Amino acid sequence: MCCDLKRRFLLLYATQKGQAKAIAEEIWQQAGAHGLEADMHCISETDKYNLETEKDPVVIVISTTGTGDPPDTAHKFVKKIQDVTLPPDYFAHLQYGLLGLGDSEYTFFCNGGKTVDRRLQELGAQHFYDTGLADDCVGLELVVDPWIDGLWLALKEAFLLQNKREGMSSDAVASLSATPHVEHDLNLSSEVQNLKLEDERERSSDVLTEKRVDIHLVASARDKEPSLVHSVPPVSQSALSIPVLPPEFIEVDFQGTHGENPHLSSLISEGTTFEVPVTKAVQLTREDAIKTTLLLELDIADTDFDYQPGDALCVQCPNNVSEVEELLRILGLSEKGEHFVCVKVKQGTKKKGAAHPQHIPERSTLKFILTWCLEIRAIPKKAFLRALVECTSDAGEKRRLQELCSRQGASDYTRFIRDSNVCLLDLLHAFPSCKPSLNLLIEHLPKLQARSYSVSSSNLYQPGKLCFVFNIVEFPACPARPVSWKGVCTGWLSELVAPLLHSSETRLGTKRGCSLTEKISIFARPNNTFHLPADPSVPFMMIGPGTGISPFIGFLQHRQKLREEHTDWEFGETWLFFGCRHQDQDYLFKQLERFLENGTLTHLKVCFSRDSSTAEVAPPKYVQDVIRLYPKEVVRVLLKERGYFYVCGDKKHMADGVSDAVVDILSMEMEVDKLEAMKNLAVLREEKRYLQDVWS
Ligand code: FAD
Repeated sequence: MCCDLKRRFLLLYATQKGQAKAIAEEIWQQAGAHGLEADMHCISETDKYNLETEKDPVVIVISTTGTGDPPDTAHKFVKKIQDVTLPPDYFAHLQYGLLGLGDSEYTFFCNGGKTVDRRLQELGAQHFYDTGLADDCVGLELVVDPWIDGLWLALKEAFLLQNKREGMSSDAVASLSATPHVEHDLNLSSEVQNLKLEDERERSSDVLTEKRVDIHLVASARDKEPSLVHSVPPVSQSALSIPVLPPEFIEVDFQGTHGENPHLSSLISEGTTFEVPVTKAVQLTREDAIKTTLLLELDIADTDFDYQPGDALCVQCPNNVSEVEELLRILGLSEKGEHFVCVKVKQGTKKKGAAHPQHIPERSTLKFILTWCLEIRAIPKKAFLRALVECTSDAGEKRRLQELCSRQGASDYTRFIRDSNVCLLDLLHAFPSCKPSLNLLIEHLPKLQARSYSVSSSNLYQPGKLCFVFNIVEFPACPARPVSWKGVCTGWLSELVAPLLHSSETRLGTKRGCSLTEKISIFARPNNTFHLPADPSVPFMMIGPGTGISPFIGFLQHRQKLREEHTDWEFGETWLFFGCRHQDQDYLFKQLERFLENGTLTHLKVCFSRDSSTAEVAPPKYVQDVIRLYPKEVVRVLLKERGYFYVCGDKKHMADGVSDAVVDILSMEMEVDKLEAMKNLAVLREEKRYLQDVWS
């Protein structure tokens, strides 16, 4: 197609962990095949686009982070469009389509996208295509793939409308309406054609056929069910439509072993990092508890690390050493682990806007990259599988990888990759002839993210110290992986502090005055809202089962100190609802009783979900059940006294249960229907008096 007929649209992405960017890149890539040109930019690059004068259609891909916030890269943009002085027709000239990414396990699903969408509408912008909201909980691709498929027709119609408005010549209009589709069909059918041919080649080649049959015979002898490596009809017999092969854009150059790795802080763009010693490690749970919970104390006295109770810190963690070794072995790079690697953007790459990934140093050792930079346990995306097809020599394995990234194999992908939490190593074990190059790993594996933890201390109460509490995450063995795993960060931390724990004087204690020589890298993750009320006379309720108790220990320590220092201040009442499985196994902070005794805490309500009871009426099991016992108090604190309600901990089961309980209480006590009660809760959220800090 002639270049001058290529129609442009503006493509903006706002990404936190790279997913929105990857999807925007997919759109950019497909645009070419549809005779269109996507002018793609990160939403933060406001010098490269101008929505105030934009005439072409705009496509926005935006994710959600934290508790319903837009990604950091969109903050400036969101602030700008939220300016209340903007007139309602400010964006009346704008036509846009928006794809929001989120996770429905969080209360404010896709709120980043919804916020931008709502505001653009308020400012007069019009949809040329319905908004898509993709859910990471069930698989982004379930919405993303069909949304992208439908985008091209919607764009074509938007262009036709635009042409009509601009009075463009009918010839040009006609070429627009016809050409992209022809190209698209050709492109897709050539992919399908290729795969059919490849199948036929496999069948006509003795060697390849043998291998293929081998795999399938073995698999079918074992079971007739599909698995990660084995498919059944119709997928196994389908012609496949697979994604376009993503262009390579990274070049690596292996060098000698001389030099020094960059400082870990250079990998972090979110703030200043501090290297601090762990001065104390306490196991808060008994050995026979189902989960192991640890409290770590860090010495931050010699740093400028600043926090308020309610804030979180981020811990930079490495990948597991033996997984890195195993990866090196499979890639045939064991000898090169200590060699320095220069990473550059490949000259002449076809990837649009190809840039050096910020989380990869220009020069560092191979082990450094695999240990500190890449999330090697990430679930491989379909584009990665597509790229892995090219590095796989066995025909049967190749076909299965093609199936897993194809449209026809979508449910196999969900079942055997996504829902099974399969990672690169699992794939390389399952498909032994797959030998990807290092550059492919750098191109497709996401950044190894620092893990967040709520601060569990007060800088007033323990100056120079910072505590946090975590459960050691454990993943049991499964069909794709015969050994059990621990979480990347919690597994690493638990091994790191083992000497401190093992030298403890008491079962749950720690050896005092001893700290690790090894330091950990942390940086602050302030929370804008989850803080103690500015006015100490205002009452508040805290709901924190399990490790959700963590920030409230900081709240209570802070409050205790304030009470000691300001005897003339008025302090509102405080409630804490805590729950765990067993009173004698995982009641994390028995010292809560002390806060109660000294008056810092006015009411402490606890429940134990797995303890048996001989009482005639069974006691409540979960915090949400306990809250239901205090409807009048909840309404008084929240509505009459305009107090605060804080919820912290497990987002999956607890947070929704708590908000359901509050809705029921509001409905009952205010004598309104459920919808009205929900509206009331929404107002409380708006006023930042119903606050959540939840995680999985
Ligand atoms: P990871 O290796 O990252 O694994 C964790 C998740 O990955 C699992 O939950 C699961 O969804 C998925 N996963 C990976 N592999 C598998 C597999 N094989 N099978 C099944 N699932 C798999 N946590 C606390 O304990 N205490 C806190 O105070 C705390 N505060 C937080 C505050 C904030 C603001 C946020 C965002 C999170 C907080 N978290 C807290 C959660 C914490 O950041 C980490 O997510 C958690 O500790 C797990 O990290 P990890 O690296 O050990 O596990």
